[in-house]
Amino acid sequence: MWETGSAEQLAWLVAQFEALGYDYSYLEQPPSPAPKKPVRRSPSPKTVDAKTLLRLDPTAALEIRHADPGTVHVLIPRGPDEARLHPVEPGMSEFNCLLRMIDGEVIIVHLRFATASFDTSPARRRALRWTTPDRDARLWKQDHEDGRCVICADETR
Ligand SMILES: [Zn+2]
Repeated sequence: MWETGSAEQLAWLVAQFEALGYDYSYLEQPPSPAPKKPVRRSPSPKTVDAKTLLRLDPTAALEIRHADPGTVHVLIPRGPDEARLHPVEPGMSEFNCLLRMIDGEVIIVHLRFATASFDTSPARRRALRWTTPDRDARLWKQDHEDGRCVICADETR
């Protein structure tokens, strides 16, 4: 559930863990160990495929499963002037992700993962254009009919 839960479900889980005094910090570790040597911060956008996005932030699995697997998606660190959805935590950053969905719609998804994972992911030598998203993830989820969706029904995806 930690990997696939919605923001609301995770908030509920965290509340349960805290009520029990349970140390859940291991759940929030990045999937791959961050390199030891310092890397140069790269605030510019990067493109990543859906598989990588899912590894970086499994809490957005619902949206990412509906993203186009044959293209790359734009990942941009959120600036200091942008609202944060989580308390500041050393080593973690929040990102705006322009996710191109299988049906061609572009939605904006808020992701959060280790800053080092972003800094060490390869920068692609291609011009990145900011595309105005059609909707944000919250509205997309609101309209998404899980019961009639073949992607949601296919648990192998
Ligand atoms: Zn679906």
